[in-house]
Amino acid sequence: MLSVLDIFRIGIGPSSSHTVGPIRIAKRFVDGLARTGVLTDVENIRVELQGSLALTGEGHATPKAVILGLMGLEPETLDPAQADTQMAQVFADKAISLCGQKNIAFDPASDIVFDYDTAPDLHPNGMKMLALDIQSSVITEQVYYSTGGGFIASREQLLTPLKDDIVPGQIKVRYPFGSAAELLELCERENKTIHEIIYANEDGFRPRAQTNDMLDKITQVMMDCIDRGLQTEGILPGGLEVKRRAPGIWQKLMATPTSNEREQLFDWLNVYAMAVNEENAAGGQVVTAPTNGAAGILPSVIRHYCLEGDKKRPQKNVKNLRKFLLTAGGIGLLYKQRASISGAEMGCQGEVGVACSMAAGGLAAVWGGTPLQVASAAEIGMEHNLGLTCDPVGGLVQIPCIERNAIGAVKAANAARLALHAADQMKVSLDQVIETMRQTGLDMSSKYKETSQGGLAVNVVEC
Ligand code: SF4
Repeated sequence: MLSVLDIFRIGIGPSSSHTVGPIRIAKRFVDGLARTGVLTDVENIRVELQGSLALTGEGHATPKAVILGLMGLEPETLDPAQADTQMAQVFADKAISLCGQKNIAFDPASDIVFDYDTAPDLHPNGMKMLALDIQSSVITEQVYYSTGGGFIASREQLLTPLKDDIVPGQIKVRYPFGSAAELLELCERENKTIHEIIYANEDGFRPRAQTNDMLDKITQVMMDCIDRGLQTEGILPGGLEVKRRAPGIWQKLMATPTSNEREQLFDWLNVYAMAVNEENAAGGQVVTAPTNGAAGILPSVIRHYCLEGDKKRPQKNVKNLRKFLLTAGGIGLLYKQRASISGAEMGCQGEVGVACSMAAGGLAAVWGGTPLQVASAAEIGMEHNLGLTCDPVGGLVQIPCIERNAIGAVKAANAARLALHAADQMKVSLDQVIETMRQTGLDMSSKYKETSQGGLAVNVVEC
């Protein structure tokens, strides 16, 4: 079992697979050089971005991520405001300090290569790292993969059944489950809700108080991100000249908070989701939920339905917040373990679709749904996102991503409502829809899987 805290990672935008993952890969490579005692011999580092990392890496800020990782920074703790300055310094100096331990010449323009010709075989997001000595001979090389949601794996790890790099081999959780059916059986047998089962499992990873602290920190970062997004006006970076829209909608809503209630339900969810994804597009701090591209859906639903107080000064309802995250995280684990949360593997159904499913389940739990209703909500949240393609215009996480999160948040609330109205077992189970997503993702043309070679990416002219 993975921990739900592996699903919710604090990092920077715009992409978990193209930014957060590559930061971790670059740092892990340099840490390995230091650990094996060869760092002192290194005079140059060469990074080859393959597959989707090459095709949309520029728009997804992958070179910046590589630089930050080589410097030894970590997504969870780096300062987004300083990151651009640090990166600019490397470009200007054509030199870098590897994890603060070894200074080498490094020209990002030539030492980070967009390898459009190599199609990585084990996962669409390949990244080859080479360390060279003074004679330009290779000291060591390693291929890694950024497998979605900030998860990374070496080639060796993907060739073993133990996928990904963070599975703690020794941890035994109290209620292991490999499917939604098993999870629901556990709920029935133990007379527990889904979030209680997940809570008990998290106790195998760390003390309960620490889990609570981390869950609370995650919601705080999510809410801070919304607040920044609501206040920050301007044009998003990348050249598409996309204007931030959340502040304008927010100002209108605050000016007329009680008029036209029916439309305003959508407006609140829209504005919160867009605030997060505009921050993400600008490289701000976000939480993967389960990815950066889909980071706005859960915070939006949380903000609108799980906090108390007025919209301007919301107050925490800690119990509901933890219940939401544990339930949603448990659903996210099912997708991660049984399919994939990578847009490069599954298209956008694996990002926004999964986030919608997670949010629907979390909200159904907060609204008092039974475990079966929670699973049904998650199923509905995915069922109506099946086949959703990933075709970001200009390779940027802006169009269609920002609006898509707003739509996903509204859809999640609707899925939760539909599930709560249903008393019986739904015809389609959560396991069936996860497997359908997986098969659909495998069948989907690579044009629609984070390569910007099809869909809106080729039909919308960049100016
Ligand atoms: S289209 Fe969806 S999967 Fe693709 S980058 Fe945007 S949010 Fe991510």
